[in-house]
Amino acid sequence: MSSSRSSEIVRNFVANNQKLFSEYNVKYIYAIGLGVCLLAHAAYLIMFFILHVNEMMYFNIFSVAFYLTMGILSVTLRKGHVILLYLTSAEVIIHATLATYLMGWEPDFGILLLIIIPILFLMLKERLIEPYLFSAASMGMFIWLRVRKINNAEQKYVFSDNDLINTLYIVNAVIGMIALLYTLTVYLLNRVNMECKLTAQSEEFKKAASIDPLTQLFNRRAMNEKIREIRRNSITPRSRYVIGIGDIDNFKNINDTYGHDTGDKVLVYVANLFISMIPDGGYAARWGGEEFLFVLPESQIVDGLDFTDQIHKSLRAHTFEIDDCLFGVTMTFGVSEGIPTDKIDTVITHADKRLYKGKNSGKNHTEYTD
Ligand code: GH3
Ligand code: MG
Ligand code: MG
Repeated sequence: MSSSRSSEIVRNFVANNQKLFSEYNVKYIYAIGLGVCLLAHAAYLIMFFILHVNEMMYFNIFSVAFYLTMGILSVTLRKGHVILLYLTSAEVIIHATLATYLMGWEPDFGILLLIIIPILFLMLKERLIEPYLFSAASMGMFIWLRVRKINNAEQKYVFSDNDLINTLYIVNAVIGMIALLYTLTVYLLNRVNMECKLTAQSEEFKKAASIDPLTQLFNRRAMNEKIREIRRNSITPRSRYVIGIGDIDNFKNINDTYGHDTGDKVLVYVANLFISMIPDGGYAARWGGEEFLFVLPESQIVDGLDFTDQIHKSLRAHTFEIDDCLFGVTMTFGVSEGIPTDKIDTVITHADKRLYKGKNSGKNHTEYTD
């Protein structure tokens, strides 16, 4: 599996399981971690009992009780989980230090003094000072134990059985790795979750910045970008595109007679006509109050006329029936043609002039000559 494919799977998993990452569920992340600690210390307790390492046996009786309490607190506490993290970190550092002090380096409880450092930074990531303080304590203990050069003569418990030493070493290394991998996984999933949220949010912002909220058509800003895109993507330098501006006739009358809300419904209806009829590759926008602009790539005036004819026909055939009021609506269009080297504003102004001409010559039609 390629890494991009696997990261896609992780991303999809997170995106489809947003509930799993809710604040409510975060406490179970602590609970699972603490549960694993509890099991590990129960295993240590049995091990030290068998090996007659009394100090560590007593310490682990405390640890088992400690992790049981921590686990219960982690699901019952509403906040303050960070204190549990501090206490847990302190327990790990003391446990590893004491075990190394008593049994030397060979079983390598000391490995946990190092492994806890990245875990601290991943768990306490929002806090600046604490991960450094705990890391300093852990590293300090590690160095202190090393410098003391605890050798067989100095330590209280010396194991001569190599298999036993290897087993202890493997147990400690595996427990350390599991703790590290668990924290890394939680951290990774959280990060991807944040990314998913940010992406969704930025999509929303982008939409809000480019879509007219009433009609759901592109707004003026987004449309300017679309026209620039069409010019850039023109197949040949002589490719043509068509721009048309349509304005609802006597819209002020509709507002004045039937009310502003009815006017809004008319705008939405007209916008939906544009959305459903615009040819593939074309875009429509709300250009102003009751003014719409469309652009058709790789097209000529005749294509613009075809499109506006369809709008005219649909509108003329439709009777608006809003709040017991029956009325019809018409539009006037001006269309013009551009080539990639033409200035966009010039082509738009051209269409606007034709629209104006149409308004002055009876409305309810498309004007395509000067
Ligand atoms: P013409 O046929 O010459 O275009 O006349 P008209 O009445 O359509 O044009 P005019 O420019 O006089 O009026 C446009 C009206 O559109 C005025 C304004 O209040 C209204 N309008 C602009 N935006 C909105 C809107 O979002 N909703 C509603 N309901 N009306 C709007
Ligand atoms: Mg009008
Ligand atoms: Mg107008």
